[in-house]
Amino acid sequence: MDYQAILHEIADEIVPFLESGRVADYIPALASVDPRQFGMSLTLFDGTHYSVGDADKRFSIQSISKLFTFTLALKFTGRDLYRRVGREPSGNPFNSLVQLEYEQGIPRNPFINAGAIVITDVLLSHYGDHDRMLNALLEFIRAIADDMSVDYSRTVAASEMEHGFRNRALANLMKSFGNIDNDVLEVVQNYFNHCAIEMSTAMLSRSMLYLANHGVDPINGREYITPSQAKRINAVMLTCGHYDASGDFAFHVGLPGKSGVGGGIVAVVPKVMGIAVWSPGLNAQGNSLVGTLALERFTSKTGLSIF
Ligand code: GLU
Repeated sequence: MDYQAILHEIADEIVPFLESGRVADYIPALASVDPRQFGMSLTLFDGTHYSVGDADKRFSIQSISKLFTFTLALKFTGRDLYRRVGREPSGNPFNSLVQLEYEQGIPRNPFINAGAIVITDVLLSHYGDHDRMLNALLEFIRAIADDMSVDYSRTVAASEMEHGFRNRALANLMKSFGNIDNDVLEVVQNYFNHCAIEMSTAMLSRSMLYLANHGVDPINGREYITPSQAKRINAVMLTCGHYDASGDFAFHVGLPGKSGVGGGIVAVVPKVMGIAVWSPGLNAQGNSLVGTLALERFTSKTGLSIF
């Protein structure tokens, strides 16, 4: 298959939609990002790489980081993790407080904000302190992306810390139910730090290979998680990776995927490749509008979907 030609076709087809979405202006540091940007990358199991557009430009990965924190928490805690966070779609917006109240502080899944905040708390307890946790997470991401330069933006993290009242409310509510062990502000700061990690689609598509290959990096043979854990993470991506639009994403794209409000989306074609796409304009559910469209075109043109 001529993947490069397909990426060029997609890059042409999405142009009319580049201004249809809205950037995540509830995070002031992201409000000024130019919505007309688009990048898409594929990395195959032998390391062959295809890209189009702004594929080397780093952007705020935001909730895509929840995939990496979930991976580490599952690796260290095993299934005990599910005592503190579920694995069912929420059917609610990513930052909803309502469901958390009537479900007694146990978030539906690791990808909505409340669930990711619990995961951050688990990792903070595991690593013992703030710096150790962030360094371990960055080290893991640098390994799977095969790029030592991955880092986070202090500016974006500070902007979220200053304006993230709702995330603080989620953390406080869970603390009141006994589901946060560490200091609330410390947990929230760590959560914002990992959301502020910056990567390009080229790096992200490479970093999906362990999930496409049962937990083992197909290029260097490193085993990060068990096949069963990789299966679970892919399943949660498919059912919960796009918040209250997860059903819609599965319907249109047909791949496990995870989005972030920075406009990035990663997706996994099991046993074949990792994919990443980026365009900052979001749809009403907070997922990249053009990114979703590009992935839909990709699976339609190539026939590569899990169904
Ligand atoms: N840091 C963002 C927030 O907490 C993440 C949301 C997202 O990417 O979906 O609101």
